[in-house]
Amino acid sequence: MSVSIITNALTIDVEDYFQVSAFAPHIARSEWNTRECRVERNINGILEMLARHDTKATFFTLGWIAERYPNLVRQIVKEGHELASHGYGHERATDQTEEAFFADIQLAKIVLEDLADSEVNGYRAPSFSIGTGNLWAFDCLARAGYRYSSSIYPIRHDHYGMPDSPRFAYEVRPGLMEIPITTLRVLNRNFPSSGGGYFRLLPYALSRWMLGRVNGHDREPGIFYFHPWEMDTGQPRIAGISRKTRFRHYVNIDRMEGRLNQLLRDFKWGRMDQIFLDRFTKNVAVA
Ligand SMILES: [Zn+2]
Repeated sequence: MSVSIITNALTIDVEDYFQVSAFAPHIARSEWNTRECRVERNINGILEMLARHDTKATFFTLGWIAERYPNLVRQIVKEGHELASHGYGHERATDQTEEAFFADIQLAKIVLEDLADSEVNGYRAPSFSIGTGNLWAFDCLARAGYRYSSSIYPIRHDHYGMPDSPRFAYEVRPGLMEIPITTLRVLNRNFPSSGGGYFRLLPYALSRWMLGRVNGHDREPGIFYFHPWEMDTGQPRIAGISRKTRFRHYVNIDRMEGRLNQLLRDFKWGRMDQIFLDRFTKNVAVA
């Protein structure tokens, strides 16, 4: 059953389970090379799933992953998906200086464009870490040649969020669009309705209703995001993490694949650039 004819954006943040920001206090960056990598098999599974549904998506990929799995990146491009950037080393923008942030996003763009042999237009900050305190990040993105960012989550959350920023795509710097993570507005508050941990936690029917409401009531495309590790029941468990982190990371991982299949059947999906950049270019042309 298709709830709406609006095409929503399907996005995957290509990183491995040990690179998740919440694990950063427990797994040093220098240890990344010693961990069992699961990203390749997980992304291959996702590519097969998307092919079965005849669906194209946007893959926000870490430069660190792309350097180690060049064939995986080439495969993403070959199958008609959009390759976009998740930065190089998965550092939150809020933990970086402006110079370090610029170096990271520029390096990721170069590494990815070299593999894709085409331009990389999109960027998503690790943990949605662009907000009121670091809006210089947008100057950096424009300077590095990105055309859109999907980095702001207009909600209140303990790790990220900018609740008063616009809910839908807007030009944040000349030539650069911010496409915020999707929220549902109820009683003057924004509720997360964009995937990730909330999608695993909430009943599927509620997630479907929220996205349907964004399409039907707001008449806007939704952005849905997930990570390859979110459907990997065999990933090594990380020891010593807090209860909250453990819950957020592992809750309903075993249900993810079934829910995603349902979501792909219930809505129409596409790539970020094809949904938003065309619209943006038209707006610029009119103005
Ligand atoms: Zn990430």
